[in-house]
Amino acid sequence: MLITPEYVFKDVTHITPEWLAEKGITALVLDIDNTLTADRSQELPEEVAVWLGTMRKAGVRLTIVSNGAEKRVRPFAQKLGLAYLYRSAKPLPFALMAAQHRMGVKRRQMAMVGDQLYADRMAAALYGIPGLMVVPRGPDLGAQVILKRKWEKKHWQKYYDRGGKTL
Ligand SMILES: [Mg+2]
Repeated sequence: MLITPEYVFKDVTHITPEWLAEKGITALVLDIDNTLTADRSQELPEEVAVWLGTMRKAGVRLTIVSNGAEKRVRPFAQKLGLAYLYRSAKPLPFALMAAQHRMGVKRRQMAMVGDQLYADRMAAALYGIPGLMVVPRGPDLGAQVILKRKWEKKHWQKYYDRGGKTL
């Protein structure tokens, strides 16, 4: 199934350079809301800042790919000094293609990191790259997302029913 998680991490900080290296992943596409920070927040949690530093030090290329508007995405990404794409229309995979070209990596070297199965996981699947799912950092604020979370539930459950672990 296109949206059943393949990998679930407790949060982004549990994704390690060693784990990525083992999979041959050298570039990450990052969602913002409920992945790097709380929904709609411009604050960057300290542990996520440390994690971004660890990734950079390990030579992992990073690009933000968010469905948010420019005014949500740009200030957050610029504060972090990260490349970014806004209004990305995930689950459509076109922004992932653009991110790949910008990062100058092969498709098999990329993974998508996000919290929503119907956006991030599906975009990754449609683009043919691994989706590294994280448990959402906090509550969702948008009505659409709240509705989609209801549909997501059984797909998260399927991951755990198959013996999947929160990494
Ligand atoms: Mg999100």
